Amino acid sequence: MQKYLFIDRDGTLIESPPSPLQIDSIEKLRFYPQVITWLAKIATKLNFKLVMVTNQNGLGTISYPINTFLPAHNFMLDVFKNECIEFYEIIIDDSLPEENSAKRKPRIGRMTHYLNNPAIDIKNSFVIGDRITDVQFAKNLGCKAININAENIRGQKEITDTIDELRTNWTALETTSWKEIYEFLKVQ
Ligand SMILES: [Mg+2]
Repeated sequence: MQKYLFIDRDGTLIESPPSPLQIDSIEKLRFYPQVITWLAKIATKLNFKLVMVTNQNGLGTISYPINTFLPAHNFMLDVFKNECIEFYEIIIDDSLPEENSAKRKPRIGRMTHYLNNPAIDIKNSFVIGDRITDVQFAKNLGCKAININAENIRGQKEITDTIDELRTNWTALETTSWKEIYEFLKVQ
């Protein structure tokens, strides 16, 4: 059965953008420290498929046009690809938090093709993200979360369980280090 890593983008692969939380130019793009080195090892040495799952609030609207998003996003993907880091799928939700879309993380409306599929080992897959909503997303999928930059418990408004419940029962690792994520995944 295939295991997956469902990896958040902003705050996890690249540094969180300044307000209004949009990376709308290459100048704003900063990779998370050492992510390229260690994610390359994960991608080439371990048996997980990588999927990127990201909320991009209001992408495609006049305040966040797609043509300001794509150059930095595609540049990031090119850098990863040059180091053998390829994403099997990239899932972008463009709704706003107040729309409460069933397709917006931590809800799993965009993830049904990964669920109830006998070829996919969802229980031994992981979500990697920087927010408590990423841990909620893991719980909703039925897997555990790796919480990077764990003191940064943001996004509480969109969770349906308590922070304690999510950290105690649905978090496999809290870390600030992609090296530690690799070391952890190596023995899974
Ligand atoms: Mg994030």
